[in-house]
Amino acid sequence: MTRSITILGATGSIGRSTADVILAHRDEFRVEAVVGGSNAAALAKIAKDLGAKFAALADEAAEGDLRQALTGSGIRGGAGRAAVLEAVDRDADIVLAAISGTAGLAPTHAALKPGRRIALANKESLVCAGGVFMADARRLGVEVMPVDSEHNALDHALASGSERDVEKAVITASGGPFRTWTRERIAGADAREASAHPVWSMGSKINIDSATLMNKGLELIEAHHLFDLEAGRLDVLVHPEAIVHGLVQWSDGAVTAGLALPDMKVPIANALRNQNRLRMDLPRLDLAAIGRLSFEPPDEGRFPCLSLAKAALKAGGAMPTILNAANEIAVEAFIANAIGFYDISEIVERVCSTFSGRNIAAPSAVADALWIDQEARQAARQLLPVRTGTARL
Ligand code: NAD
Ligand code: MG
Repeated sequence: MTRSITILGATGSIGRSTADVILAHRDEFRVEAVVGGSNAAALAKIAKDLGAKFAALADEAAEGDLRQALTGSGIRGGAGRAAVLEAVDRDADIVLAAISGTAGLAPTHAALKPGRRIALANKESLVCAGGVFMADARRLGVEVMPVDSEHNALDHALASGSERDVEKAVITASGGPFRTWTRERIAGADAREASAHPVWSMGSKINIDSATLMNKGLELIEAHHLFDLEAGRLDVLVHPEAIVHGLVQWSDGAVTAGLALPDMKVPIANALRNQNRLRMDLPRLDLAAIGRLSFEPPDEGRFPCLSLAKAALKAGGAMPTILNAANEIAVEAFIANAIGFYDISEIVERVCSTFSGRNIAAPSAVADALWIDQEARQAARQLLPVRTGTARL
């Protein structure tokens, strides 16, 4: 039976890996719609390669370019919010959600429809509004399957036992490009150095999040919502080889782990098909050839974003929403060379502490989450260097 798929964030790193998985299994999947940000040529190419019926760009100004790029293909194109929502609304069995950042929340939430599966890569949806998102998914009978490699591994490990017997669920971190650097050297790093990830090839925002270890912090919050595990039962382990992705420690001391070579096509294929695995023509894990796997605790002194995210998870309420928003603004500024590496954690910390006294409750609706998100972004922007070039930090 062919299953229909809509891909949100089709032109990105996860979107392109998803296209590879689908192209290797044309008999299994049919693509209904593809959604991208602003690159008309790239979206049109993916739409044609995948034989999609509809292509939507978020950027309204790119509508003419998209229509032109699709001329003669028989694929309808549209741009702007309404077009993105039309793409999400069209009949599809699976929606693969891989827009980067909080921009993914509204379309991914709108994709929750009875009987559907959401293959979720956009972790920021859960960090910003996880309570609402998961409650709505449960209410509507939507299966949320994690694409994030650590959560995909945990999903399978957790399925081998019962939730009450879980002592601890651990996600691994490769440690990013600065794992072995001193704090002084990291302080002078620029966006190019921070983007040179030793293991994964990813989009620009998650690359920086991996260098600060905020990515792992966001993933702890993601795991909390996906698996309903409180902060005390979630942990992070640095594992540079990125072969073991997630581990579950059970109440009898046994550990179940999920292993795979670091290639996002593995968890993507799994999230599309779940228990019934696809055949993937990828290199196989050869542990004898690898010989040695190493592990170390994360260093929260050099990577303070991880402790900030842990604190936000523990504090609960709207703190994860606030942390996530401040981080997005700070990461954008770092990529634009407007601030230094440790200004990212500094901005996040300052914004979180500004809001902590207000004890804002966890968002009760997506609109609520987006309102808190905007407030926190505004506060983060105030901390950015002023136009004269003098930093306020
Ligand atoms: P990316 O930057 O490569 O791609 C992002 C995609 O989103 C692009 O198609 C872009 O055009 C689209 N987009 C951006 N803004 C948009 C908007 N406002 N409306 C519609 N589309 C928009 O990012 P990525 O690395 O593919 O990551 C995507 C998501 O998956 C992120 O949430 C990331 O944390 C998560 N993720 C990525 C990886 C990885 O290996 N890349 C692994 C795990 C999880
Ligand atoms: Mg991950």
